[in-house]
Order: sequence, then C-alpha cells, then structure tokens
Amino acid sequence: MDLPEVILDTSFLETAPAMSSDQTYDLVIVGGGPAAMSAAIYGARKMPSLALITRDFGGQVKETPDIENRLGFQTIQGTELAAKFYDQVKQFDIHITSGTGVTMLDYHRVVRIEGSTGMEAIIVADRDRGQDKRLAAQSIFIEIGLLPNSESVRDLLPLTPDGEIVIDCSCRTGVEGLFAAGDVTTVPHKQIIIAAGEGAKAALTAYDYLMDRSFI
Ligand SMILES: Cc1cc2nc3c(=O)[nH]c(=O)nc-3n(C[C@H](O)[C@H](O)[C@H](O)COP(=O)(O)OP(=O)(O)OC[C@H]3O[C@@H](n4cnc5c(N)ncnc54)[C@H](O)[C@@H]3O)c2cc1C
Repeated sequence: MDLPEVILDTSFLETAPAMSSDQTYDLVIVGGGPAAMSAAIYGARKMPSLALITRDFGGQVKETPDIENRLGFQTIQGTELAAKFYDQVKQFDIHITSGTGVTMLDYHRVVRIEGSTGMEAIIVADRDRGQDKRLAAQSIFIEIGLLPNSESVRDLLPLTPDGEIVIDCSCRTGVEGLFAAGDVTTVPHKQIIIAAGEGAKAALTAYDYLMDRSFI
C-alpha cells in the first residue's frame, strides 16, 4: 500500500513560551486527540486565553491506517487527518505545551520485544520503508486498547467501574469548572466524529460557565 508522506511540523513548539504559573487561562485543555483539538478550535473562537497540554497530536487517530467514516473524506489516512487537525489548531492563538522527551514514531509497528531475563529492547518496523529499528528499553506501556486513560483524575472525579469519567449531556463532570469529552468519558460509541462533537460541546459549556460567573 502506498502511504502518503505526512510530516507533522511541530517546530513552532520550540519557540513557544513556557506555560507561566502566573497567568490564568480561561480554559486549559488536556489532550491532543479529536476531542481536545475540537475543544481548542471552539474555545479559541470564544475565549481570549487558552492553553493546550498534550503528549502528542492526533491521539488514537494517528494509529489508524484508513478512516472511511469521517464526514467530508471518503477515505483518509489517520496521520493525514491528525496533521489537518493540528494545522487548523495552530492557526489560533493557543498556548500549546507538548510532552517533552517523547519521540514519536509515526507509521511504525511493533515487530517483537527482546530480552533474556527481562525486557531489553523493542524492535519496530517502519511501515513505509520496511526497515526495522532496535530501541533499547526496560519497560513498555501499551496504550492502545479500550481502557480509558483516566488515571490522572481518579481521585478527583466520579468514574464508572470501567474507569470512564461520568459526564452529563453538556460534558460537565460534577466538579465545577472541570469538563470532559471523548473516549475517556461515559459517552457511548468511541468514534472520531463523536469525540470531536463532544470536544466542541465541552468548550461551549466551559464558555457558558465562565460567562455566567462574569469571568470573561
Ligand atoms: C486502531 C484504531 C482504529 C480506529 N478507527 C476508527 C475509524 O475508522 N473511525 C472512527 O471514527 N474512529 C476510529 N477509532 C476511534 C477514534 O480514534 C477515537 O474514538 C478518537 O480518537 C477519540 O478521540 P479522543 O480525543 O476522545 O481521544 P484520543 O484520540 O485517545 O486522544 C487522547 C489524547 O489525550 C492525550 N493524553 C492522555 N492523557 C494525557 C495526559 N495525562 N496529559 C496530556 N495528554 C494526555 C493523548 O496523548 C491523546 O493526545 C479508531 C481507534 C483505533 C485505536
């Protein structure tokens, strides 16, 4: 299969100012998947100061070879769609802080894990060029799966026994000023367009919340 070459230009992050603890942001968005990117776009159109903190750009979308149910595209590669999300978000004046020390390997698949008494290395293959790469590592965290990544808010928010963040139909979590959207929540059907819609909803609910209290 011929995959298009998609380069995610994150160079502007190098010149992005460090997030200041003195500044109060109207909205801080955590994540870089469709829910967060959509929340960023809706939020930026409504609120003067926004910050986005994420470990990557694209979330699960980057892991999807062919997407055939995204409105507006008959078929699109996940990395291409992630790059489009990213290009759209960076047009706005949003303070973006991405995970540091993280090496992103797009279009790679895990071939095997090597080690004698414990893990020593992971072998990955470049899906495009077919070359294997050996990366020394002592542990591995396998992220893809259906387990919601809600560990960081476990003590803060009501979760279901499966770990999903409980939200109402306006993406409110039950904790004032804290909203959640996308796959990590109780919203049914874990799909891109749904996560993006939920992200938009969360940003608009956050805006209403700030307006009602005359914060903006
Ligand atoms: C292999 C595969 C194929 C799929 N195919 C399709 C498809 O064809 N069509 C479709 O509609 N859907 C598909 N999906 C589902 C779709 O990708 C998800 O529903 C969608 O990406 C959910 O978006 P999200 O923003 O809620 O979460 P995610 O995409 O999971 O994004 C979560 C983001 O949050 C970040 N994050 C998490 N924790 C932290 C933290 N503590 N600090 C900072 N950042 C953090 C992550 O790095 C990531 O950027 C597929 C999923 C997979 C895995």
